[in-house]
Amino acid sequence: MKRVLNALPMAARFNLLNTALVLVTALSVGFIVSYVQLARQFEARHEQSLVLASLLAETSEYAVYTRQGGVLDRQLARMRDVPGLAYVEILDERDRQLAQMKVLDVPLTSPPIQAQGPLTLWQWWTEAGPQALVEIVHPITSSGFQEEGALFLDVSADPKIIGQVRLAMSLTYFEEIVRHSLWLGVAVALAILIIGLGVSLAMTARITLPLKKLALAAHGVIQGQVEPVNLKSGGPEMRELGQAFNLMTTWLGDYRLKVESYQAMLEHQAYYDELTGLANRTLLKDHLRLTLTQTARRQCSAALLFLDLDRFKYVNDTLGHSFGDQLLQEVAQRLHHQIRACDTVARMGGDEFVMILNDLSGDRDQAEHDAGQVAEQIGQVLSRPFEIRGHEISTSFSIGIALCPHDADDSEALIRNADCAMYEAKTRGRNTHRFYKPSLQQRGARLLTLETGLKRALEQNELVLHFQPKYDCRSGRLVGAEALLRWHFKDMWISPIEFIPLAEETGLILPIGEWVLETALQCLNEWRQTGVVDADFHVGINVAPPQFWHPDFARRTLETVARLLPNAPGALELELTESCLLRPNEDIQRTFATLSQAGVRFAIDDFGTGYSSLSYLKQFPLDVLKIDQSFVRDCIDDPSDATIIRAIIAMARGLGLEVIAEGVETQEQAAFLKEAGCHLLQGYLLAKPMPATDFADFCNNFQHHSIPWKR
Ligand code: C2E
Ligand code: MG
Ligand code: MG
Repeated sequence: MKRVLNALPMAARFNLLNTALVLVTALSVGFIVSYVQLARQFEARHEQSLVLASLLAETSEYAVYTRQGGVLDRQLARMRDVPGLAYVEILDERDRQLAQMKVLDVPLTSPPIQAQGPLTLWQWWTEAGPQALVEIVHPITSSGFQEEGALFLDVSADPKIIGQVRLAMSLTYFEEIVRHSLWLGVAVALAILIIGLGVSLAMTARITLPLKKLALAAHGVIQGQVEPVNLKSGGPEMRELGQAFNLMTTWLGDYRLKVESYQAMLEHQAYYDELTGLANRTLLKDHLRLTLTQTARRQCSAALLFLDLDRFKYVNDTLGHSFGDQLLQEVAQRLHHQIRACDTVARMGGDEFVMILNDLSGDRDQAEHDAGQVAEQIGQVLSRPFEIRGHEISTSFSIGIALCPHDADDSEALIRNADCAMYEAKTRGRNTHRFYKPSLQQRGARLLTLETGLKRALEQNELVLHFQPKYDCRSGRLVGAEALLRWHFKDMWISPIEFIPLAEETGLILPIGEWVLETALQCLNEWRQTGVVDADFHVGINVAPPQFWHPDFARRTLETVARLLPNAPGALELELTESCLLRPNEDIQRTFATLSQAGVRFAIDDFGTGYSSLSYLKQFPLDVLKIDQSFVRDCIDDPSDATIIRAIIAMARGLGLEVIAEGVETQEQAAFLKEAGCHLLQGYLLAKPMPATDFADFCNNFQHHSIPWKR
């Protein structure tokens, strides 16, 4: 029963309970009404019977005394219509029946119950049972008739019993009372039932159904269907509850939306890079795990490309971090457009991106070829200038590639190897890609050793300056020298190409740069004093972007110049790469202005390989363009390099700048440059970079040297 009840819906249970309550109440009230009515009727009838018996006894006194049975019969016959009377008999003192009247229509099953005084329904019911008659025996007394046959009353005599009246109530009549009482009870119960059910129905309509609706709506809310509930059929309280519920669901809906959006955001943050929207390191590792299992199952290869933006630090430092962020976003977009649906592109952090190229051939050479082509394509796409906040900026990427499963078969090692290959690409002149080779690992270890060694290079006097002469083929004179840094470390000469980027990254370039300036000016000073060089001979030093961007650069440079070359600031030439000029901000303008007003000259080194637009040529007080040696190298064989050189020379002439070619190695190159209008030359043809003492000797001997280009 309990289980059945529990299985019913709440509203049905409520209705059932309600109906049961109404039913029980109706039956109880009906029963009570019936009983009370019955008891009252019974007691009243009994009372009447007692009265009737006593009246009969009084009125029969004389007839009994005189034994006039006929009188008595007539008297009793008149009582036939008294309701409920079963029988009446009048007996004399010897119990001889004088008269009787019987209305017995129901057989007696038990002897009549004798009752002289008041009798309750309950007593009658429990003592004799419902079938029994209630018999009243009332004595007939006489005080006057002393003797049998006496006609006159003697009022002084004691009363004497001369007979008795026996009177019984009829069951038939009682049944009628019972029926009436029961009907009354039933009527009351029905009335209560109808009223109760009406109330119950009203409650169902006004409370249960609205509650049911509310419960359904609440379930809907749990399942995400936030719809307003209409409780118009309910009472005002229900309507109020409905309104409160609707307000709550609206609030819940908003709250749910917020929670869902937070959830989505958190999920996104967990797997995607916030700045670029690309996959992050976590998602990349997931994808990489998948790639590794797929390559093993399908016997194919995959390539992991590790991309690092060249010189991104400069962009950040000069153009600001928000500019850098925007550049990264644009880069991410271009990368995203380059990949197929089965590939992945992720940002590892900073300016590092990683791509997974899936489904490459199982053959290593083929896979290498395909991955190389993609890397090339990416290189081209990313070298197209970016237009950011009115600035046109060009970038390049160094890309390292590791193949799976050939180079590694776990994700950590694959990323590490691609990273290693990327460093190799960086040291190989950037803007290129390199494949991983086991020997690169040694290179990584070497870089670490170099970084540690470089920190002590200055203290240990391991740095040396070499000088390479610059020659003017018009006058046949040496006009200057470029100071080139050398590092003698652990019995090896380390190339600046290798350690200058390290110095830039670690910030060591600042003290090293100051040492270079100091040493170069000291040498020049000495050469001037000893007459090795002419008064207009200049020394060029290379300046890395972090040095040039330092707010104190101009002041400190001028201090050193004033100390070592007080009368000839023009003898110092600063060689800047184009990356130094990424943004013409006020600090850079001021540095230029201060130094050039003091007479310091500026040259743009490696001209033609830069990353920014040429507009800087007119914005800054420049003096010299140094044609990059890559153009000079092939100017004889490659007509396009020759064309570029001619264009640079024409442009320099147009802008009133001097032009010098570096990396001149052959007579042909020298002749071509001279013919094209570039008269200043620097390169192995004349001399390789050499220590200061050798340089002094070289200059001394040079007076007597036959100059090859003069011919
Ligand atoms: P750079 O300023 O363009 O220097 C010219 C490079 O070309 C030098 O390499 C020089 O030795 C080399 N070179 C000169 N003539 C020829 C030639 O005929 N053929 C060939 N193949 N090479 C020639 P080096 O000394 O290895 O320097 C490489 C780069 O390192 C320099 O390029 C410069 O960017 C940087 N560097 C050198 N010294 C310093 C320095 O003191 N400070 C900074 N910041 N960078 C420096
Ligand atoms: Mg240089
Ligand atoms: Mg150069």
